[in-house]
Amino acid sequence: MAETKSAPGLYAQLIGSAPGAFLAKQFGLPKPEKLRRYEPGQPPLAGPLLVGGNGRLVEPIRTLLSDYPFADPADTAYGALVFDATGITDVAGLEQLFTFFQPAIKGLGPSGRVVVLGTTPEEASSVDERIAQRALEGFTRSVGKELRRGATAQLVYVSPDAATGLSGLESTLRFLLSAKSAFVSGQVIRVGAGDAKAPESWERPLAGKVAVVTGAARGIGATIAEVLARDGAHVVCADIPAAGDALSQTANKVGGVSLALDVTAPDAGDRLAEYLLERHDGADIIVHNAGITRDKLLANMDAARWNAVMAVNLLAPQKITEKLVEKGALKEGGRVVDVSSIAGIAGNRGQTNYGASKAGVIGMVQATAPVLAEKNITINAVAPGFIETAMTAAIPVATREAGRLMSSLQQGGQTVDVAETVAWFANPASSAVTGQVVRVCGQSMLGA
Ligand code: NAD
Repeated sequence: MAETKSAPGLYAQLIGSAPGAFLAKQFGLPKPEKLRRYEPGQPPLAGPLLVGGNGRLVEPIRTLLSDYPFADPADTAYGALVFDATGITDVAGLEQLFTFFQPAIKGLGPSGRVVVLGTTPEEASSVDERIAQRALEGFTRSVGKELRRGATAQLVYVSPDAATGLSGLESTLRFLLSAKSAFVSGQVIRVGAGDAKAPESWERPLAGKVAVVTGAARGIGATIAEVLARDGAHVVCADIPAAGDALSQTANKVGGVSLALDVTAPDAGDRLAEYLLERHDGADIIVHNAGITRDKLLANMDAARWNAVMAVNLLAPQKITEKLVEKGALKEGGRVVDVSSIAGIAGNRGQTNYGASKAGVIGMVQATAPVLAEKNITINAVAPGFIETAMTAAIPVATREAGRLMSSLQQGGQTVDVAETVAWFANPASSAVTGQVVRVCGQSMLGA
């Protein structure tokens, strides 16, 4: 089973040795940082939080994050820098970014966090404001590429109609500041105007919820099941009948149940709906993680490879979601999370079938979000980059090392990084987050 912990790459092993570290220093080679990852009970940040800016969000944020360690004026070392850029309404105002970040950025510690908050450009009230707000994207993505030692940078656009309490923003802000977003960087996330209800406990936000994870026998799916269970959900772990033993192992580990289900079977949606309605009164969360590759250059590809990839990766999630909604087996307020890929954003040689299917997943999320919003159901996608699994272990060694190193964080991600992002989308407090595609790729240069 491709579990969360896999062996470090050849390059990481070399750099981890004394002579390797010496060589890396002499030649300025990348030295991947050990990323701070989430553990229950850990402090929310590795250092104090510096908040700046003079927009509509800055004061509510101080209240929202009142349990965070705020920086004193005397501090010069930080765990996170959060800047409210919603007060910037024209190009001249962009200088505020320079004034705030330039002196502070050097003080950002290992696995530090930069979060810039802006106003959704499409909802800006003037041409000048829209230009200035759109500019934040280039700033934040560039900062992400300059940061070192495992630090990350994100931009969150908040609807101008968001209520002053900013409850709809809270789950996103907490996720991005936490160690749960270790491998997420350079992302732009739009948060809608809706309010959200904070969970009773941020440690177990999914208590009482029922989640289905497809492809849960191994790899990313097995870890998604673990993380959703850690957050309190009862998890129905689904996979093909042939995955039997591995699937039972996952289900046992997470205290959930296993369900033999080929997602491409013509009756898969009906069977799942029936199962969920009989046993649970429906599900709260469905994670369409099952996915396959059948790589070949297009010129050498046969129809079977094309069709198999399309059936598992794209048609199955679409049809199953439609069926669950139609039969009322996905509850009001439900969460649909799809798994795309950076190959669906950048394209990849030898993966015309896979790239098309994963880009189609993005189209599905964007097209379906407004429709499902009528039932207060959200739909979002994670787009993993290079994640250490059986899938990536099969890549030839040179390409594999390049895949690891060609990102701002200069390493591959762990399955838990994808799973934590899924859990943030699944959180009941993420009701204002829909139609989003978030890459979990360490700001990979591929598809940037
Ligand atoms: P994996 O091959 O390790 O696991 C996939 C699981 O899906 C397996 O347990 C398999 O049995 C199951 N599955 C396949 N066909 C199925 C079907 N018809 N019905 C039910 N289950 C089925 O893959 P992984 O690396 O864990 O990838 C999980 C998801 O993440 C996939 O959608 C993949 O495309 C995506 N992804 C992975 C990476 C990566 O770096 N590993 C990168 C980008 C995207």
